[in-house]
Amino acid sequence: MKVYQGKCVVGGIAIGKIALVKENLPQEQNQDVLTPEEELERFQNSKAKAIEEINALHQKALKEIGEEEAMIFEVHAMMLEDLDYNEFIEEKIAQGQSASHALLEAREYFSTLFAQMDDEYMKERSADILDISNRVLKILSGVVEREIKEPSIILADDLSPSQTLQLDRSCFLALVTRYGSNNSHTAILARTMGIPACIQMHYDESVDGEVAILDSESGKLYVNPSEQLLKEFTEIQERKAKEQEELQAYIGKPTLTQSGKKIMLYANIGNLEDAKSALQNDAEGIGLFRSEFLYLQKNTYPSEDEQFEAYKEVLELMGGKKVVIRTLDIGADKKIDYFDLDFEENPALGYRAIRICLDRKEIFKTQLRALCKASVYGKLAVMFPMITSLWEVQEIKKILQEVQNELKEQGLEYDENLELGVMIETPASALIAQDLAKEVDFFSIGTNDLTQYTLALDRQNPKLERFANPYHPAIFKLIKMVVDAGHQNNCWIGVCGELAGDLKVCEELIGLGVDELSVSPAMILSLRKRILLIK
Ligand code: PEP
Ligand code: MG
Repeated sequence: MKVYQGKCVVGGIAIGKIALVKENLPQEQNQDVLTPEEELERFQNSKAKAIEEINALHQKALKEIGEEEAMIFEVHAMMLEDLDYNEFIEEKIAQGQSASHALLEAREYFSTLFAQMDDEYMKERSADILDISNRVLKILSGVVEREIKEPSIILADDLSPSQTLQLDRSCFLALVTRYGSNNSHTAILARTMGIPACIQMHYDESVDGEVAILDSESGKLYVNPSEQLLKEFTEIQERKAKEQEELQAYIGKPTLTQSGKKIMLYANIGNLEDAKSALQNDAEGIGLFRSEFLYLQKNTYPSEDEQFEAYKEVLELMGGKKVVIRTLDIGADKKIDYFDLDFEENPALGYRAIRICLDRKEIFKTQLRALCKASVYGKLAVMFPMITSLWEVQEIKKILQEVQNELKEQGLEYDENLELGVMIETPASALIAQDLAKEVDFFSIGTNDLTQYTLALDRQNPKLERFANPYHPAIFKLIKMVVDAGHQNNCWIGVCGELAGDLKVCEELIGLGVDELSVSPAMILSLRKRILLIK
């Protein structure tokens, strides 16, 4: 048996055969070069076939994932028809080169050209040049993409949008990638599909076709496991499935402790798909909508309209249940190229979240406008990340007022009673909670960052696991301070970091007076079950 270690993206257990998915990059052909006319014909025919494939993928993407994500295939079709690209290839063929050699040269020339451009959006097009050129080259050289015929644990370097669409998703038991990050396309896909997934696993390619167990929560892939291990994990898997079935009985039940305290049991989401999953799991609202995912999925700033639509969709779907949207929280571990952020020695202590928003006011105002306009479609609350000082909240409120005045002047509606909150993610904000509470309606405690900043411990650094005690008494002291300060000033208090979904501390958090817990959709029902048992 071999064991490989990766990083968990979606927790769960999968047992099955491994299917290795590789991008089969076509090599230069050793075929005889035909006459220029014949080579040109080969190129034209392969290009026409490639466009057919792209159009089919576009249709499939429209049906399966939506208009915005499908657009990339429209761009690909357009690029393949681009005059400069075609003239370059035709000229090379006229000079006596084979169609595949001409294509390889075009691939090299145009991808380098785009990669060297200053504009981030244009730079990204370099990858698209590779994608379209490879598609035609594969057709020319007869490379056949691997088909997966049975449910498998998929292993890949990373999956491109085309690969993800070409593969039959009913065959995905789990996803493991060598590269990628928590926010990579593959991670988002796995989350949406609700299948176990790991990233950054350095597996050996010889494992293709072997039987394996993926225990993604611990980040482990067991290849050729012993009969004993298979038996153990099959039992765990069955037990989990049974528990999941039993949890369905908690759908529709009010979340009350035995003494009658009502807990708001909300979900953390990143997009509309997650919101659907939140509803399926009977979340009573959304406690954290990480709006930065809208920015992370794009090559340029999402427009006001795009943001408005995304917020409106979630608000409408939740049908009057509270939706807390957090304003943009990028920087530190969440990097976005088009923001053009400088290199920093200590990014977690650097230019991130509200600091960027207060500095680049136009980006912030666009988001606030979109939020205010969407607020009439449901019960919206807005919260702000990484607060450390009172003046930040006062400045945020001034900017919000400016936005609302502008909307009023334009005759546009917004919810005048919009609830406002701050995230408590820094020791400073916890220590001045008394002052902050006078400015807002609620606090949401982000224990992931609060732990990082309180214990001076990088949450991304695996070497520090031994020191990273999520139950450190300092954290609970700060939570208690925040709850008391908030309640004295009529604020409700939520916890939206990972600690909120930790069944071991649920009773303690509620005992401290926390009013709301916001967790991943999959955790909702087991948390309700636990809360119902609290005295
Ligand atoms: C947190 O810091 O606890 C939190 C919920 O925010 P994020 O994990 O997105 O930084
Ligand atoms: Mg945080």
